[in-house]
Amino acid sequence: MMNIISVKVDAKTAEAIRAGQPVIPKDAVRNPSLFGTEGTLLRLQDPSGNYVATGYHGLQNKGAGWVLSRNEQEIIDKAFFSRKIREAADRRKAFFENPDTTAFRVFNGEGDGIGGMTIDHYAGHWMVSWYSEGIYSLREFVYGVLKEMPEIRSVHEKKRFDSKGQYMEQDDFVMGDQPDFPLIVKENGMNFAVDLNDGAMTGIFLDQRDVRKAILDEYVAGRRVLNTFSYTGAFSVAAVLGGAVGTVSVDLAKRSLPKTIEQFAVNGIDYEAQDIVVMDVFDYFRYAGRKGLEFDLVVLDPPSFARSKKRTFSAAKDYAALLEDVLAVTAKGGTVIASTNHAGFGMKKFKTFIDKAFRSVGRKYRIVKEYRLPDDFRTPRNSPESDYLKVAVIRADG
Ligand code: SAH
Repeated sequence: MMNIISVKVDAKTAEAIRAGQPVIPKDAVRNPSLFGTEGTLLRLQDPSGNYVATGYHGLQNKGAGWVLSRNEQEIIDKAFFSRKIREAADRRKAFFENPDTTAFRVFNGEGDGIGGMTIDHYAGHWMVSWYSEGIYSLREFVYGVLKEMPEIRSVHEKKRFDSKGQYMEQDDFVMGDQPDFPLIVKENGMNFAVDLNDGAMTGIFLDQRDVRKAILDEYVAGRRVLNTFSYTGAFSVAAVLGGAVGTVSVDLAKRSLPKTIEQFAVNGIDYEAQDIVVMDVFDYFRYAGRKGLEFDLVVLDPPSFARSKKRTFSAAKDYAALLEDVLAVTAKGGTVIASTNHAGFGMKKFKTFIDKAFRSVGRKYRIVKEYRLPDDFRTPRNSPESDYLKVAVIRADG
């Protein structure tokens, strides 16, 4: 039996959790030590002592933990984790059965009933991400379940909870038959090379699948494409396969060059015919301005926060200014695909940044399409920050 302690939360939190909010905010109690040590199970009560929910204590961003159940009788044990994981896998039946897409999210944290933990499927190889010491301390339940699922070929993990909430360097292999890396996965017919044991990232961000598909099908034929913050160039791959006349991929990280070459190569693309530029995008905009370069499609997918030698970037503060730089290299009638994964603001606010940028450069625009998280990134109701991805396809008319 797991240890469980009773904690009274404030009335507002009790009400929000009853309405579906999955996170237990740090400030829901006056004294944080009431939550015990990370991994402790919590029986949350309202100020009158009535049952609200069962959860666990794990520190993650503004959260002190996550709700696991709103049924007082439900016991948190291996069978609980087994039910949640199998339900999540059942919901993704269509993904498992689709031979054109072999990389997707199997378990999306609070959206599938256990916050602080996600599981991604890469051609039968599973990758678990742990977002707090608390949920990590419950890992034996999860690994006990995965061990009993014969369809899983291997398991890797990412511990994402050092003192800054970041990835902790380690050998990420957990169990099973470790594949040779790079492992080639499919997405809507495209190939992507991934490595589950090479630092924080795998080579592809699965939450942009619908946007890559849209680029492939709709936005690039015959166009000159600039992919900023390009990482391994996944959007550039979609652009070339979609018929772009040329792509320029710009990223500051040195490893983006070999990684982008690799993504092109596994798709049979002649990478020498594409431009891959290792450079700060802000310097690239200046260079492109001097050379008078123009693009018909610009993809803009910056990190929420970034620090380079010269400057810091925060999407919440600097997105509009960044978009102004993008517009300076966007042709008349061109398209900008503007994306942000910043959880701290919603689509409405994002659109104010877009509006501000266009007003200040004096161009008209139309948002022709919006994208949010794909279906496998299931999110709960009453948890706006879980629904972090916002993508706008913008026609820059004048
Ligand atoms: N759009 C990519 C993911 C981007 S991840 C995709 O869909 O695959 C963010 C990337 O921004 C990282 O690769 C990081 O190296 C890069 N980056 C951060 N600051 C940068 C800057 N100032 N200039 C260029 N690249 C930057």
